[in-house]
Amino acid sequence: MACLCDNADRLTQRSPPSKLPIQVESTVISALLQKILLAPMVALWIFHLYQRRFREAGTRKRIATLSLTMVVIGAWIAAWLFSRYGIADEWLIAVAVVAVAVVIWQRRLMLPFRPRCARCGNPLSLMRMFSWDSNTCEACEPAATEGETTR
Ligand SMILES: [Zn+2]
Repeated sequence: MACLCDNADRLTQRSPPSKLPIQVESTVISALLQKILLAPMVALWIFHLYQRRFREAGTRKRIATLSLTMVVIGAWIAAWLFSRYGIADEWLIAVAVVAVAVVIWQRRLMLPFRPRCARCGNPLSLMRMFSWDSNTCEACEPAATEGETTR
């Protein structure tokens, strides 16, 4: 009995350290990111459905929401590919850099949201900020126009 245990000890000591656990751990963030990114994906899609209520009045902002959704989906696909093919999590930094670069490059398309009125500078309501292309407050844009465009 004692001899067998001794042999087993020697065997484990001699065998080179297994790299398998390290490979599994290297894609932990990728796997986690796949789950985390589902939340903004669903949220942006629900937000897009909400924006559809405003039709022509908010076309640009709806396109912005959709293009931001594309970026999130792109990041999700990258995370999926990374965990599928065991690409190390460090490469996620490159994906993040590309995602941020795309948003900055296409900021006119993807980020048309303004916190203040384009005419008077007063803070905009959240509904106006996220759903109205004109970026003007209720005082600057008459309510009558609102009624016509939402119909
Ligand atoms: Zn205003």
